[in-house]
Amino acid sequence: MRDRIYLSSPTMHGEELQYIHEAFDTNWVAPLGPNVDAFEKEFAAYLGEGVHTAALSAGSAAIHLAMILNGVGRDDIVFGSDLTFAATVNPITYLGAKPVFIDSERESWNMDPEALKKAFTLYPNVKAVIYANLYGTPAKLDEISAICREHQVPFIEDAAESLGATLHGKQTGLFGDIGIYSFNGNKIITTSGGGMLASKDEAITKKATFLATQAREKARHYEHKEIGFNYRMSNVVAGIGRGQLLHLDEHIAAKKKIYEQYTEAFADIPQIHMNPYLKDSEPNFWLSCMTIDPDCKVKPLAIMEAFDAENIECRPIWKPMHMQPVYAENDFVKVTDGMSVSEEVFKDGLCLPSDIKNTPEDMERIIGIVRSFFA
Ligand SMILES: *Cc1c(COP(=O)(O)O)cnc(C)c1O
Repeated sequence: MRDRIYLSSPTMHGEELQYIHEAFDTNWVAPLGPNVDAFEKEFAAYLGEGVHTAALSAGSAAIHLAMILNGVGRDDIVFGSDLTFAATVNPITYLGAKPVFIDSERESWNMDPEALKKAFTLYPNVKAVIYANLYGTPAKLDEISAICREHQVPFIEDAAESLGATLHGKQTGLFGDIGIYSFNGNKIITTSGGGMLASKDEAITKKATFLATQAREKARHYEHKEIGFNYRMSNVVAGIGRGQLLHLDEHIAAKKKIYEQYTEAFADIPQIHMNPYLKDSEPNFWLSCMTIDPDCKVKPLAIMEAFDAENIECRPIWKPMHMQPVYAENDFVKVTDGMSVSEEVFKDGLCLPSDIKNTPEDMERIIGIVRSFFA
């Protein structure tokens, strides 16, 4: 069996270990410490001026806190992207609130502003909105935020997959009231596990940090007026993050090259379409995905099985939330007649191996397998 080709695995460079060594040398093997403070500052500086951050144990923790900070509680309705990873919407459920799923549009596969508008007519008392930038591709963020503002409903941007992606030059994660990022193992940069909450409002990130450290009040003894969590990032993990951040732009450039290579390699096969993005957006190209025309006899499953047989990792598109057994009772809003856009993309699509350590030979093998189905 040949060496495995990965979908998207961690790529370390060296500085990560240096920062970990510093943590060990100074015995800061604890939550909090100089790496955490520095990582928060360096990350905020990357995003832009006037951004504040709180380093957390996971992107999911950041979403959970973002919901709490927006007052989401029992029996509230929250609108969420339908086509996304379950972690986008599960924290709504942690709080006893109920997600209502919003369909995607075809231009970026993200939350459809038209479906969102319709949802507001159906649920005028919605408490918050959370949308994801799928696979590193910015959503129609201006339209979505305008609709949320018009209804004076807070919106949370799940930029877990889209760190470094921009829409007309502005970083994803900054279009909402709160942005969240993830450093899980296969994300564009990783700390093995971790997350960040970002906001232009320092009061929000301060409160997030407070809730993430067990909501301990400033007092000599242990004083609690609120329920808190153990959600802070550790100083060792933050060291990995500092090292990775130095290479984020390099990772994005390498991911873009992979996307462009696939685009070029399949340009003469009219049944294949690469995942689309908006004209004025610059995705981070975290995962390259493709769809196959629904009336084509080649199906994504056949290609995925061919990859499996060659020890090449690939993945289906996220299964839409409205199709998940655990959310069978939840409402779903779409504006299409018949099948939703999210279901179409799920049915016709797959994620291609997008590991930045792929060699030219690996890419040739992957492309050859796909092309063989269309020969
Ligand atoms: C990875 C991911 C998350 C969760 O982040 P963790 O750090 O794994 O908790 C949330 N939303 C999306 C869209 C993700 O891809």
